[in-house]
Amino acid sequence: MSDLNAEKHVEEKSSSLMFDVESADQAAEHLRQALSLLGKLSVAPAPLYYTLFYNYIAGKNVRLNKEVDDLLKQHGALDKEDAIALFQRFFSVAGETLIEDIRKELVAMVAQVIGALVDVAGKTSLTNEAVAKQIDRLAETQKPSEILAAAASILGETRQFVVFSHQFESELTSTAEEMSKLKQELTNARREAAIDSLTGLHNRRAFDRRLNELMAEIDGLDDGFCLLLLDIDHFKRINDAHGHMVGDKVLSEFSKQISKLTRRSDFLARYGGEEFAILLPGTRITNAFTVAENIRGTLEMVRLRRSGSKESLGAVTVSVGVACYRIGEPIEEFIGRCDKALYRAKRLGRNRTVLGD
Ligand code: GH3
Ligand code: MG
Ligand code: MG
Repeated sequence: MSDLNAEKHVEEKSSSLMFDVESADQAAEHLRQALSLLGKLSVAPAPLYYTLFYNYIAGKNVRLNKEVDDLLKQHGALDKEDAIALFQRFFSVAGETLIEDIRKELVAMVAQVIGALVDVAGKTSLTNEAVAKQIDRLAETQKPSEILAAAASILGETRQFVVFSHQFESELTSTAEEMSKLKQELTNARREAAIDSLTGLHNRRAFDRRLNELMAEIDGLDDGFCLLLLDIDHFKRINDAHGHMVGDKVLSEFSKQISKLTRRSDFLARYGGEEFAILLPGTRITNAFTVAENIRGTLEMVRLRRSGSKESLGAVTVSVGVACYRIGEPIEEFIGRCDKALYRAKRLGRNRTVLGD
């Protein structure tokens, strides 16, 4: 049976119910004739047959009567299967319930699919009124043909959703790429802001930050931490004798040497013009002194030559002050003690390491 037929039967049934208003006389007459016909056909007046033939006699449903007539003409009787089939099509509420169930299921399914799509695309401000209207139509309609029409219309709308969601996805992808590029740029900018461009070491700002961090973490460090302040001896003379650019080369070469002589956990910074600061976490004063002496001794041995004339710069030395942080000590006091040790190293003749008090 096609959907079109099913739809028609549903419509006809509503106008064919046997409870249409009849006079008592009319009803009695119809009853008498129906029972007589049942007797002629040798059929028991069970509710199913009685309902069929009562309505047949009343003649309220032309289509029912035609089908009964055709069957009687063909077979001379109405067998049980035909009677049940006629009853279900014209009177049973079971068929109606079935259509209602399917309709509800269809509505729920389509709504679910739309819901999923709206969920994807709906994260944007897109509101698709057409789809909403079709869902309402779907929920209201009783007719399978209208359900299909609404579903087809929704399908068309969902295709637009799909197109949209693809566009949305590619927009998201390019936004994500853009964001990760920006994130990288931000990381680079942050890094650059903390790095000294000439030497590649951390700058003074980064040093201050790291020192404050270590002061805050001091309770977790087994051996506390120490600070070395290095200052190149008579650096002014190098600039004067060989030029500022040569002086720059000395600064960057010394930075490389110092990096090689320290651990990854140590923190190296260019503290000022020709001064370096080195933070040594988890290091006691004696070890810090050893590290300082190692650096000083190595730099003293480095022989720098001018790239063109191969002229030697002679020994370039450094003086070093060493101090270990005392818990609770203010930052200026700590740096002041280290600076004093460095100053003493200078006064004592340079190219030496002095411990802070
Ligand atoms: P001392 O042993 O007492 O430290 O003597 P010094 O000459 O090293 O110290 P002073 O403070 O008198 O001079 C420091 C010199 O370092 C002066 C300055 O021009 C030079 N200087 C500072 N920053 C730079 C830099 O970035 N490049 C170069 N080439 N020279 C620098
Ligand atoms: Mg200096
Ligand atoms: Mg100096």
